[in-house]
Amino acid sequence: MTQSKVIPLNVAKPSPSLLVTQPYVPALDKYQMYVEKAFNNKWLTNGGPLLNELTERLKDYLGVKHCLVTSSGTMALQLAYRLFNLQQKNVLTTPFTFPATSTALSWQGANVCLADIEKKSWNLCASNAKQTIQQQHIDAIVPVNIFGAPCDLQAFDDLAQQHQLPVIYDSAQAMLSKYKGGSIYDYGDIHCLSFHATKLFHCVEGGAMVFNDKKHYEQAKNLINFGIDENGEVTNAGINGKMSELHAAMGLCILDDLPMLIENRQLSVERYHKALEGSVEFQQCSYEADIPPMYMAIKLPSEKALLAVQQKLEMQGYASRRYFYPDNHKFLVNHTAQPLANADEVCDKILCLPLMHNLDKRHITAISQIVKSVV
Ligand SMILES: *Cc1c(COP(=O)(O)O)cnc(C)c1O
Repeated sequence: MTQSKVIPLNVAKPSPSLLVTQPYVPALDKYQMYVEKAFNNKWLTNGGPLLNELTERLKDYLGVKHCLVTSSGTMALQLAYRLFNLQQKNVLTTPFTFPATSTALSWQGANVCLADIEKKSWNLCASNAKQTIQQQHIDAIVPVNIFGAPCDLQAFDDLAQQHQLPVIYDSAQAMLSKYKGGSIYDYGDIHCLSFHATKLFHCVEGGAMVFNDKKHYEQAKNLINFGIDENGEVTNAGINGKMSELHAAMGLCILDDLPMLIENRQLSVERYHKALEGSVEFQQCSYEADIPPMYMAIKLPSEKALLAVQQKLEMQGYASRRYFYPDNHKFLVNHTAQPLANADEVCDKILCLPLMHNLDKRHITAISQIVKSVV
């Protein structure tokens, strides 16, 4: 046999031994117990008993009245945008977010408009949003509670009231956040949550909507089931946005473990903070806020430093991720009234370090040393 091709000398990237995150899996026998219930019921989806149990427990846990569980966080966003008829409307959101916030807007035919973020919280800036609204016609605001840090919710409520605008929060990362010691759900019209496997609480795939207005809850409930009403008649062009019993089963298992999961990750975040204090910047709010331990995001002094850190981590088998880079899909954006100076300054310097359940503290020490060796 002859070798017909020269093997290219591309050095393969080492595959990381530690990922940025890993989904939490509950005890298998517990999950099986729920699956057995679904099998015995022969009820697998369409508002079954496990989904109802999950919904009731979530309402209790979150302290909210109107909660609708959906098939994904993106579905929750699309339904929220749909409820306010945002087709061909101008919707103001943040440049620093996961793409789904604005791809879902675009999918609903809305025009994506951007205002700048705050320098320290990395969230949409209410006063910059206000300036934008004064300069350009805006029909709705979609702030994102990024990395679980709540936006200045009161400022957005005030702004919404002044201009008679709906506020839909992308709270996909903020299910467990607190604002000024209270509930984030007291603010805005709708919060959209994600229960994707990479989130702290998850159902493998899933999401939810929390409503302030019961009317919106009723409308969304109709829409996730093809628009079919209680009499079996189609009253709206709906969609299939329901969560199955097997996904709800995962949620029920993880809900029990959630306090332990939060405590475990909080410990890791504190270890990172202690090791990296003074070397990098962390996310900060200018008001009292509880940021759940969902991501370990750091801001490096420059993009050059970020790339060097990322490369060094990779060589040691550690993954890291540039959430969210490049910033919010410029190709979707119709209009930006304000310069996005803070977003330009922040977006290319943020790196998320590994954070997951039971992260060994030796990894945190090693990762922190690598970061500090660069900055
Ligand atoms: C995860 C996430 C979404 C999407 O949620 P899915 O459940 O994956 O559809 C949307 N927005 C933000 C900010 C997210 O982090």
